[in-house]
Amino acid sequence: MTDRNDDLFSAARAVIPGGVNSPVRAYGSVGGTPRFLASAKGATVRDAAGREYVDLVASWGPALLGHAHPEIVAAVQEAASRGLSFGAPTEGEVELAALIADRVRFGETRPIERVRLVSTGTEATMTAIRLARGATGRDLLVKFAGHYHGHSDGLLAEAGSGVATLALPGSAGVPAPIAAQTLVIGYNDPEALAAVFAEHGQRIAAVIVEASAANMGVVAPLPGFNRLIAETAHAHGALMILDEVLTGFRVHPAGFWGLQAAAGEDYLPDIFTFGKVVGGGMPLAALGGRAEVMDLLAPLGPVYQAGTLSGNPLSVAAGLATLRLATPEVYTTVDAASARLSSALDSALSTAGVTHAVASAGNLFNASFRASAPRNYAEAQAQDSFRYAPFFHSMREQGVALPPSVFEAWFLTAAHGEDELRRIEDALPAAARAAADA
Ligand code: PMP
Repeated sequence: MTDRNDDLFSAARAVIPGGVNSPVRAYGSVGGTPRFLASAKGATVRDAAGREYVDLVASWGPALLGHAHPEIVAAVQEAASRGLSFGAPTEGEVELAALIADRVRFGETRPIERVRLVSTGTEATMTAIRLARGATGRDLLVKFAGHYHGHSDGLLAEAGSGVATLALPGSAGVPAPIAAQTLVIGYNDPEALAAVFAEHGQRIAAVIVEASAANMGVVAPLPGFNRLIAETAHAHGALMILDEVLTGFRVHPAGFWGLQAAAGEDYLPDIFTFGKVVGGGMPLAALGGRAEVMDLLAPLGPVYQAGTLSGNPLSVAAGLATLRLATPEVYTTVDAASARLSSALDSALSTAGVTHAVASAGNLFNASFRASAPRNYAEAQAQDSFRYAPFFHSMREQGVALPPSVFEAWFLTAAHGEDELRRIEDALPAAARAAADA
């Protein structure tokens, strides 16, 4: 039986490659027809056929306060009434940049003195890398296998055959000489980090790392690993780019960096990148760091970067409203919901006899179908990922929308209340049995 979602997917595929504007939306790894969403409110989304789901995607992270929060919507409407885009500086940008710089602090440590606003996480990391190259006069970039930083050429790179070899293109269309400027090493592997710097240290401009990996499933950094990256990079005159696009303002008011600092792991990245929550669901991202580095950007410095829609007033209004509403209580609420659901997920899979490990990083969590939580990309891939599709579809049939891939975190919002959490908990046992039967 087809419904409105099927009809729309057929129509979409006739005009949009694969029917989607970003690949994971196509349900490639779980199969079936993607749900075309018509509206969302709080913790729920409604599809084109009128079915409602408790949502654990949260637009892949931004909706920290829940969908269509009335104060955020009102702020955007008010901004829209004053004009959609000016291509000129605005007061709101100044407030948002100052708010970002002010929130990312631990005690007296304030690593962000300057902020530049851009429109997507991809732009933020791309600019951060150019800035690091401009600052150091070096070309090579170190990234970790399984970490995602957007789709710019040099970041779509895959490890070559050796530990410290120059990478190969990770997508058609990426020129080999550009991929070869990236060195891809294993995550949570201090020896690989030491080896890549031993061999190429004088040529490395920066190490880019997800503050906690969350695009190969949730894989937290081992204790001390982020600090080791900072120390190693700095010892060789290279910069550390901490990618907080996914974690920033979601796991803690000061991001994953703030969460780690509060837990006693202090280190100083040179450039931070933000996206998702910082734009409250509108296209907005940012990079920030100390003045000496950030002021190398045009118009002050020689590193070029620009954007017609950068600092768009509607996006800035959404970001400002979101950060102002994201009080410490919001994080307490999301953390508690996350702890409750990850334990419900763990026990449902255990009861059904499914080999699994639930992993978390702050309030981000997900399950992998292997006996122990993965520590790196090779381990994340070595799991019974075929069990996820039946699990996902069972949850969906019971009215819960999960991310359509086993390699994604489950995103909670402050709008997930008792009713929504119970609906998710009630759906888990049958989904776990479906995973067991796969
Ligand atoms: N960095 C990280 C850690 C991300 O998770 C993402 C997106 N999932 C990006 C960068 C890219 O952001 P965008 O999709 O806004 O380009």
